[in-house]
Amino acid sequence: MEKGLLIVLSGPSGVGKGTVRQELFKDTSLNLAYSISMTTRQPRYNEQDGVDYFFVSQDEFEKKIKNDELLEYAQFVGNYYGTPRSYVEQLLNEGKNVVLEIEVQGALQVMKKCPYALTVFLVPPSFEELEKRIRGRSTEKEEVIQERLAKASKEIATKDEYKYVVVNDEVLLAKEKIAEIIRENLLKKSQ
Ligand code: 5GP
Repeated sequence: MEKGLLIVLSGPSGVGKGTVRQELFKDTSLNLAYSISMTTRQPRYNEQDGVDYFFVSQDEFEKKIKNDELLEYAQFVGNYYGTPRSYVEQLLNEGKNVVLEIEVQGALQVMKKCPYALTVFLVPPSFEELEKRIRGRSTEKEEVIQERLAKASKEIATKDEYKYVVVNDEVLLAKEKIAEIIRENLLKKSQ
């Protein structure tokens, strides 16, 4: 069976990667599978272990790093986030197109390790809009919000490293652009 396509969806925190990803997953013709990340962050009230993330302790996470069980990982605003490698490989071998929804440091690691990966960077229509979205989520303290904003502007500066940059002005439009990019790349891959 032909291996699936590895897809990296990145972009600054608050740009709406999660929402766009959820829309993409409604399109079953894309044959997508989501790589559930591991994190040491506390779950938000609406998050479920094993669905949104695998929530683990710092010790557990550091063991995974030591045993080289992560395809990539990063520290983001005081917590670890990473992609369990074996699950991604299993899904790719099953022919699934696997989506990693990850921040920039991790995305840069995947580009190095897997240069064939399809990499998409989602940008906000403006920085003001991004700030509004991050504040709108308002699950964090001001200090964390400030940290996320400072981080976002550094993250946006890496956008040229990606194969595609898509503006998330309107979720369904952004989703359709990415779906088109995926279809194009699946076609290229099968030729
Ligand atoms: P949040 O705390 O808002 O869920 O996530 C913070 C950031 O970490 C987001 O940009 C999110 O995409 C990213 N992230 C989630 N999972 C992973 C992962 O496995 N690896 C990396 N490098 N970043 C991740």
